[in-house]
Amino acid sequence: MTSGDHGTSGDHGTGGSHAAGREQDGERAHAVPRDAADGPPPWVAACGTPVAVVQGSWSGRRGLGSSSPCAECRRLVPG
Ligand SMILES: [Zn+2]
Repeated sequence: MTSGDHGTSGDHGTGGSHAAGREQDGERAHAVPRDAADGPPPWVAACGTPVAVVQGSWSGRRGLGSSSPCAECRRLVPG
């Protein structure tokens, strides 16, 4: 029951399919679907949390490689 999963492009869990997002007032990194990240804000992460900033890729240092990636996003988008 995941909303926002309208990905028309391949959703085969490829590493580069998600961007890294960050909450406005937090250090937690979230996975933002690439299609959404390419569009205008507001952006919503895979876990449903709105993010204020999109930077880099989820599989990179700003995402999974950051100090505190969102546990739910990590589960939904292993990278
Ligand atoms: Zn998240």
